[in-house]
Amino acid sequence: MVRLTEGSIHRCIRIRAHHLLCLLGFRGWGYSKQFVDNMQRIAQKFYDPATLLEVVVGCDAICDFCPYNKAGECCRGEGSSQKVDQQDLEVMAKLGLKPETRLSSDEARARIKESFSVQDLSCICGDCEWLNLGYCTEGLNRLKSGESHPISPYPSYLSNHMGYTERIPIS
Ligand code: SF4
Ligand code: SF4
Repeated sequence: MVRLTEGSIHRCIRIRAHHLLCLLGFRGWGYSKQFVDNMQRIAQKFYDPATLLEVVVGCDAICDFCPYNKAGECCRGEGSSQKVDQQDLEVMAKLGLKPETRLSSDEARARIKESFSVQDLSCICGDCEWLNLGYCTEGLNRLKSGESHPISPYPSYLSNHMGYTERIPIS
């Protein structure tokens, strides 16, 4: 594990484990403008090496602005809370992490690159409707190939794509 020196980390973001994968596929789409604005901020920090992440099972800093978060439970659909918790546990197991582990965003991305295949995405993400868009697969492939993420440089990409928020949620 990367050793974190005092002063090198100036942010700590509580992030549920499966959202580490979702961040790879983020393209400025989301469930509401507030959700997208918040996820934009977190995605920027995800690529900042000075960011410290606390990896958890359960609602996190992304869920905080999600309209489906009801009193700290994911209420997106029937059984969604249990389903996303299970996804978190499966991602944690693949990454060799335990709940509440803190690590740098660089190390989190390195572990994803090392541990995840596109087939793993299909298994863990199940029937998530975002999977068929291909963005998450593309994001993982780019990470694994060492390319810069498609949303970088982030602000200019988003400024061209924020309009898509009006078309979500997908049905
Ligand atoms: S397919 Fe869904 S759960 Fe899987 S990484 Fe993408 S957005 Fe997240
Ligand atoms: S859909 Fe559920 S898991 Fe996803 S951000 Fe919203 S509350 Fe969190």
